[in-house]
Amino acid sequence: MKLAKRQYSWDIANLHKTYRFMLSKRGYLTAQGFVNQTKLGRNLIRYYGDELLKYLNCEVKPGDANCWLRLLTSKHRAIFHPLKHILLLVFLQESVDSIKENENKSFFAFGEGPYPCLNPVAEHYGQRLIEDVQIKRDENTGNPRGLFVCEKCGFSYSRIGPDKDINDQFRYNKVIEYGPVWKEKLNYFINNENLSKKETARRLNVSIETVRRYLNGFEKQPKKEAPTIKKLDELKKRWLNLVEQYPNYSQNQLRELDKGLYTLLYYYAKEWLQQNSPKGKTYHNGNKRFNWEERDKQVLPLIKKAIEKILNEEKPIRVTLYRIAQEAGISGLKSKLEKMPETKQYILSKLESVEQFQLRRAKWAIEMIKKQGMHVSKSKVMEMANLHKASIETMSKIDKLIESYNC
Ligand SMILES: [Zn+2]
Repeated sequence: MKLAKRQYSWDIANLHKTYRFMLSKRGYLTAQGFVNQTKLGRNLIRYYGDELLKYLNCEVKPGDANCWLRLLTSKHRAIFHPLKHILLLVFLQESVDSIKENENKSFFAFGEGPYPCLNPVAEHYGQRLIEDVQIKRDENTGNPRGLFVCEKCGFSYSRIGPDKDINDQFRYNKVIEYGPVWKEKLNYFINNENLSKKETARRLNVSIETVRRYLNGFEKQPKKEAPTIKKLDELKKRWLNLVEQYPNYSQNQLRELDKGLYTLLYYYAKEWLQQNSPKGKTYHNGNKRFNWEERDKQVLPLIKKAIEKILNEEKPIRVTLYRIAQEAGISGLKSKLEKMPETKQYILSKLESVEQFQLRRAKWAIEMIKKQGMHVSKSKVMEMANLHKASIETMSKIDKLIESYNC
């Protein structure tokens, strides 16, 4: 057929990415970017029938870590029989030609970052300042929902994905927070330029209700009991402590640490707050120069959490860079690592070699077998931990493990 007649040269190393993109179109990718292997396996079996797959020597076992379908749709170096590619492509209603067409398309629901700030009154509107997107599953639609937070102005928005093309990156479904820059502008339009609420709403690209809501917020605040000077001094001290404790943090990041404190100072000692906050540390001239040192510190706890989660999976999963990136929801992590030495060092200390993973999986299998009150036999451990491809060296280590458990 086509494969025989024409010469195809595929970028094998990136083929899994293309497949992922195709899988995402058919709903086989979770919001975090994992392939739903169980669903994929089951549906593919339903599509072709068990018998045909067996006849073709392409049996699919959804729970098996070494199943060809699982390997074909994850990053791998193995070469697969063209038939297996065809089986997947036909099932996904794609063709051999569509591999070329879909090449280099991102399977990330929101494309690759950095993403633009969409604050209409920020001078940096449209500039790609948002490094990462936090992705969750939208409860109503089941689609991925991305949260984008601009650290420079505090504006944050969400968008339901997946994006259809790059222009979608300039669209949002909802503003989550307008942030201090936007609010200040609103205040300025009303109080300094004496614009009407309607005109202010037009300039801010929001409804007049939103303007009213925020104005009410502004007007109400000062009517609350104003803090005494002594109390205000305490607040200032607390703020200065934060600044000292987190020397690399921007004003917005400090605000996130103690929103109540920031709000009080913002209303009662705004000028002081501006004078005693870090200025422009993160960015230079508002362009894209990014403070990686700071990013390194922010990303590290996310990575730690992600690794912990991977290690706590019920059935062991190998700790790979890819998994970590997926779990932490950080796109393009590999290329960013060079600029984040602390995170890099931590990740390198936690990555598992195939052998390390096989040993961990063997330990897990032994525990499981023991829990079921059965004798720990080598064949049972191998079956359960899928160790059929383990090297002789690894197997001898596993033998010792089993021995120690049985005595
Ligand atoms: Zn911004």
